[in-house]
Amino acid sequence: MSLRPAPTRIPSGGAPATVSDVRQRNRTQALRSIILAGQTSRAELARESGLSVASVTNLVSELISEGLVIEAGSVASSGGRPVTLLAPNPAGAYFLGADVGERGVAVELFDLSMTRVDTEFRGGREGEPIEVIATDLDEALDALRERNPAAWDRMVGIGLGLPGIVESDADGRQVLYAQSLGWQPIPVTDLVSHDIAVFAENGAKTQAMAELWDGAARGVQEALVVLLGRGVGLAIVTGGELAHGLVSSAGEWGHVKIVRDGLLCRCGGHGCVEAYLGADAILTAWREAGGRFEGSGWRAVGELLEADKAGDAIATGVVDELVATLGSALGGLVNLTNPERVVIGGWVGLRLMESLAARIEAATRSQALTRPGSQFELFACRFGGDTVALGAAMMPLGVLLDEPRGSRRLS
Ligand SMILES: [Zn+2]
Repeated sequence: MSLRPAPTRIPSGGAPATVSDVRQRNRTQALRSIILAGQTSRAELARESGLSVASVTNLVSELISEGLVIEAGSVASSGGRPVTLLAPNPAGAYFLGADVGERGVAVELFDLSMTRVDTEFRGGREGEPIEVIATDLDEALDALRERNPAAWDRMVGIGLGLPGIVESDADGRQVLYAQSLGWQPIPVTDLVSHDIAVFAENGAKTQAMAELWDGAARGVQEALVVLLGRGVGLAIVTGGELAHGLVSSAGEWGHVKIVRDGLLCRCGGHGCVEAYLGADAILTAWREAGGRFEGSGWRAVGELLEADKAGDAIATGVVDELVATLGSALGGLVNLTNPERVVIGGWVGLRLMESLAARIEAATRSQALTRPGSQFELFACRFGGDTVALGAAMMPLGVLLDEPRGSRRLS
């Protein structure tokens, strides 16, 4: 079972596969395997792909001549003959991933081994207009380029994880619709003035891209990847791929109404999941119940959980309500999608999972039907707070993986 391709991808069409299509697919698969493994061998690649060692040797020679793969020493095999190790050439290509929010941007630079080489943050203010966010993004890129000029020579592009719906228009131009933040629709290329390829996707979906690549959703066909932060997002993985719905917005769980005529949400609606489970909603509930605390972010949510653990009755009441509401909202999703895994990330989600994972799991199971409620496992996102940026970098990585054979030369 396969879903529509992501809007950023070019459909492959219905023509039968030619020999060159097959070789192209094998090249993509081999490069992907080498990057994921970090170190592997020609024999291992052959085993994994079902190709002959001779075919793999050909593919690897091409990747080495393109500067994408290197031989990284050798180890003794069980038969005593040395086996040459293959590794991605870290300097072979570079990717940028950005986590874009209304409070600023975090831009991360990755090499071809998907190791984070450098990172730059801009912002830290509240509720910025989109023009300021675009300036932050450009300044962060200026700083990264200045520190890493060699990376820019082999830069594939930047992926943006954005706080809203990202759609592609008829000309393939991507547009951001961030209704909750009050931003006007904006073409994503307007966010970056650097001469660089720009790819974009909703931040909850880029978080899921990272977890699908090498995290808690790797190899999982049916998963829910939840983002709990200031906003609430979701990516639905089905058939091993991200669901987009008709155009793009599938997974906008944060604005599903769970209380009719309930609390006002940032999107303008009432009773949305985000109006109960977003960071501001959680802290507002605590303050209104009589909680005393400083700030509005990570520290304040941590203080709430600490106060609960210390037996503070007000905090415990807020946390009990939070767990029950999250369980109810997730239980509904479990009924709708019958996942194998539920993966929770985002800075609030990770914080909750540190101390409340067992309770969240129990609450979710109790609020789902018995069958689907007993068929999923609950995990925290593997990559922590940087998952949205890493996942966004998966978009330019995907472009490199699908590049036509021989399109690069060692520089
Ligand atoms: Zn809403």
